[in-house]
Amino acid sequence: MHELSLMEAVRDLALEQAGEHHARRISTITLRIGSLAGVEPDALRFAFDVVMAGTLGEGAALVIEDVQAHAFCDVCQQTFPAHDGVCECPDCGAISRDLVQGRELQLASLDLDCDDDPLQS
Ligand SMILES: [Zn+2]
Repeated sequence: MHELSLMEAVRDLALEQAGEHHARRISTITLRIGSLAGVEPDALRFAFDVVMAGTLGEGAALVIEDVQAHAFCDVCQQTFPAHDGVCECPDCGAISRDLVQGRELQLASLDLDCDDDPLQS
């Protein structure tokens, strides 16, 4: 299950940021996940709990932002929504291999509980 290694990378990034900000704990982690990223949200949530156990991120909320995949049509010079990896332009029927978004799995934002007054920093 590759969700586990993906979440380990997310955790390492989140803990690095938490360390930089001297956070006591991580309260929320928001991920942006493309519709063609090939991950199961349920598996991700499970992996999240596993990898966060015993860290500053234990008990943090996981928010998943879905990103609709889009491909770019060379003929029409426009992007269009891509479904299930089939990138056929709805206007001209051309098959595009130019996926502009939809495979990302990235850390979008992080909410930290810090000792410092946030207004002071
Ligand atoms: Zn087209």
